[in-house]
Amino acid sequence: MSSSSIVFLGTSAGTPTPSEWFPSILVTHGGAYLLLDAGEGAQIRMLETGIGPGRLDVIAITHMHGDHVFGLPGLIQSMSMSARSRPLSILGPVRLRPFLEQVFSLTDFDPGFPIELAVPPYRFEVAKGNSVLRLEPFPVCHVGESYGYRVEGLIRGRGGVKKRFSIAYTGDTRPCNEYLRHIEGVDILIHDATFSQKTHGREVWEYGHSTALDAAEVARRAEVGVLVLFHKSVRYQGRGEGLLDEAKNVFPNTILAEDGMRLLL
Ligand SMILES: [Zn+2]
Ligand SMILES: [Zn+2]
Repeated sequence: MSSSSIVFLGTSAGTPTPSEWFPSILVTHGGAYLLLDAGEGAQIRMLETGIGPGRLDVIAITHMHGDHVFGLPGLIQSMSMSARSRPLSILGPVRLRPFLEQVFSLTDFDPGFPIELAVPPYRFEVAKGNSVLRLEPFPVCHVGESYGYRVEGLIRGRGGVKKRFSIAYTGDTRPCNEYLRHIEGVDILIHDATFSQKTHGREVWEYGHSTALDAAEVARRAEVGVLVLFHKSVRYQGRGEGLLDEAKNVFPNTILAEDGMRLLL
């Protein structure tokens, strides 16, 4: 099996269903492990993939809405109970620090290992052997402080550094020009597709979200390789084909994220 992959741990928006959990994506490259968002239940989904939370090197959070962060305290507590001693890096909005400090304080919890919190535009690089995972935040248009992340997997060799893959994850956002240049030409774009243009139209922009059609138009403009529709509203449960068809009319190379789906890179 490829040593680089994306595993969609949770792909729903706002509310979960038994088969669609809150947003969380695991990216592995060589021995480096990155979690993009930590929706509730992310650690359980990780265990289902056979990868314990203790393997994580860095967690990147897009914004402070509960569907994207409520899994984080539980993840950290499990790492602590597994006697983790090496540092954990977390990248995300300014309010992540008081959020974690409050939860830890009110639950009488001390992680017992260093947590290195950083705020964008700080960039991360995790190097494991020849594999390098590079993480670059960029601003998106959702609510308050919201980021997307560009992730590049690099291989260091005798001839220098070679890029193996590039991914961009927008987190929650309406389509806007602010992030276009950061996602240009990536192999895989994981984009907010909360609603359908047919049922909601442009009104979703007021809520800082995108339709499947919006995501497809962004993918076409940014000339990405593959578009993955993500963060589907629970109202489309079992009817995701409609979103997929809507996007494919504009950008044929589109797939719909499902919990447990794994893409080899
Ligand atoms: Zn969300
Ligand atoms: Zn949100």
